[in-house]
Amino acid sequence: MSFGLILGQERAKTVLQAGLTAGRLAGAYLFVGPPGVGKRFTARQFVKAINCIEPGTGGDSCDRCAPCRLVEKGDFPDLYAPEAQGGKLTKGTSGDGERSGLGEILPRLHFAPLMGKYKVVILDPADGLTPEAGNMLLKTVEEPPPKTLFILVATVETAVLPTLVSRCQKVRFTPLGVDQVAQYLRQQRSLAPELAETVASAAQGSIERALGLCQSRLLEQRAELVDFLLSLFESSLADRTATSLTMLGTGKAEREFLDRVRAVGRMLARDLLHASAGMDRAGWLLADRAREIERLAGQLQRQGVLRFSGVLDEFSRGVERNENPKNLLHFLGNRLHALATGSLAG
Ligand SMILES: [Zn+2]
Repeated sequence: MSFGLILGQERAKTVLQAGLTAGRLAGAYLFVGPPGVGKRFTARQFVKAINCIEPGTGGDSCDRCAPCRLVEKGDFPDLYAPEAQGGKLTKGTSGDGERSGLGEILPRLHFAPLMGKYKVVILDPADGLTPEAGNMLLKTVEEPPPKTLFILVATVETAVLPTLVSRCQKVRFTPLGVDQVAQYLRQQRSLAPELAETVASAAQGSIERALGLCQSRLLEQRAELVDFLLSLFESSLADRTATSLTMLGTGKAEREFLDRVRAVGRMLARDLLHASAGMDRAGWLLADRAREIERLAGQLQRQGVLRFSGVLDEFSRGVERNENPKNLLHFLGNRLHALATGSLAG
């Protein structure tokens, strides 16, 4: 049941299910692959399947028994998932809470499981272990207490201690296709097909990011973001800078805002293309803004509309490379203004 909820990752699922059905589990697994493609989600499903009282075909969890329900709620007593502090997993100190550091968790693994078949430790991010924590872990993984299983979750394999990697069964996770993410958004989030496609392509194959976009008030803020983008074409440098800074926010909000600009920018680009081709408004993503979009399409002409898509691509790549958000918005504003005044060469 739960393995069916994992999007894509057929190879990873096959590896895990083979171990479950053969009753031969590794002592440690390394889940490795790009961010936001389901490693953590899969780890939870795997913990359920390992401890399920009545597993079904392919060793999958029943999702009804006590262990399954407790894992789902995050209350399973045999699951240890130390929290990273500032992106690092540490040894911890006895003062900083019950489940916080490896130093508190590892000694407890010498006791029998409280409820399940295995005690499971999820280490995420395993590529963010402090050297002290890594060495401590290595000792335990080399001589694991009975009925203990480790799941290391990492983005970059080479950043995990090689001696640890060599003790793990590797399970590789691959980026998801835009089509797969779009299909998920249509089926699980009931997004309209064209909207699902736009969000999926803005999320670049990361389901985590796509869901973030869905939750991030993207849909409610669409009007505000269209206003913002349209204003970039028209306003002076000083106004563009002031508006950008107000909209951008600070800290974590900055990245989310850039993702939303990207997503709505793509919607606008798509509708501009439709407008310049004189297509029916019925399939537009921003049909409520059709008049403004048609006016802009007329102003930019076909060439400018195509260049707008190119500018967005460049902006997107900057977002991917984690470039400075203020610089990126400054770049976008300058380019759009140049497009509107016909001064963008090339
Ligand atoms: Zn179960």
